[in-house]
Amino acid sequence: MLRKLMHVGPSMTSYEVQLEGVRENVGFASPEFLEAMRNSLEGLRIVVGADNSYLPFILPGSGTVAMESVTSILPRKGKVLVASNGVFGNRWKPILDAHRMEYEVLEAEPGKSVDPASIKDKLSSGNFASLVFTHVETSTGVRADIEEICRKARPLVDRIVVDGVASVGGETLKVKEWGIDAIITASQKGLASPPGAALLVVAKDSLNNTAGDGYFFDLKNWVEPMNTYLKGENGYLSTEPVGVVMALSHVFNDIRAEGLENTIKRHRVFSEALNEGLEEIGLKVLADREHWSNTVTAVVAERSDDIVKFALSMGIEFATGVHPKLKGKYFRIGHMGYFNYYDVFSALSVIERSALRAGINIKLGSGLTRAQEILIKNG
Ligand code: PMP
Repeated sequence: MLRKLMHVGPSMTSYEVQLEGVRENVGFASPEFLEAMRNSLEGLRIVVGADNSYLPFILPGSGTVAMESVTSILPRKGKVLVASNGVFGNRWKPILDAHRMEYEVLEAEPGKSVDPASIKDKLSSGNFASLVFTHVETSTGVRADIEEICRKARPLVDRIVVDGVASVGGETLKVKEWGIDAIITASQKGLASPPGAALLVVAKDSLNNTAGDGYFFDLKNWVEPMNTYLKGENGYLSTEPVGVVMALSHVFNDIRAEGLENTIKRHRVFSEALNEGLEEIGLKVLADREHWSNTVTAVVAERSDDIVKFALSMGIEFATGVHPKLKGKYFRIGHMGYFNYYDVFSALSVIERSALRAGINIKLGSGLTRAQEILIKNG
């Protein structure tokens, strides 16, 4: 059966994107690949709101590779504050441990976001050089108050690093305006490409004195290669995921054609319609209303793992919950990438039927009506 992919990554893509990189044999020094690399690096810089004072990076790897390599720009003198809203916020801990860095963690309960004021208080109280936090926490669907956090933290630290793995391509980002030193992401989420590439956009002045251990994971070794690729020339350091970059380039062209603001608005409106619909059915969105994200929704429901199984048998792949405090008690919907009008209704109708099959007493059809109202309200 043809399946709709509403997992939290890889996310839903288009056939054209899937075919890029497999249509032809493409070499890593071919003109087609070099143009795709240049276009993707430029596109990446634009979708996060950066300018030429930032350098974009595309590395073979994944989100975790991007997280680990960005540690090379964190000063070794001074601690790191990790503001964690869940599983992926907590992933910084083993990474910082592996690089023998000192850190402290402020952790929110599932569905909540660490309060910007408590981040400010913590940073003022100790010897912190860096702040790292997750923009959209994929385990809970919570969007952090990114602008306010940056405004409060900027005078207090040398480096602000944001994990945008589940937000880039679906949420407004103004890294330059907000004073963010580095944002990381991966190919398979909001940028709707196959997995295989780690993506970063880093302020050039924070690349002057990197302190990374390792070769592959020290960003300074990638500066010259990326500058070369930006000129459309072969900057080989390690073989890039050629097909993934071809796909990414296609996605950036699609975003350019739709208009970045329209792409983000599409995600915002569809997310609101979906979330409002879910609550109308009688299910609960895990994230606080003011922290609903454009890209991931976590839904609290009895027999959640069964709902995911039933939905798969009806052709939609959702994700189970992974937060250790709530395992089995919620499921997740990824609405990144090529998520469309009709996908809102497919998701809601399959959830309604799956919940009924799981024996949950819901108001059949009510979610679809509510979603229609939200879409009409938003034109
Ligand atoms: N950060 C966030 C917010 C994520 O959602 C993920 C992946 N789910 C990662 C980091 C890690 O990315 P990857 O699985 O590509 O290594």
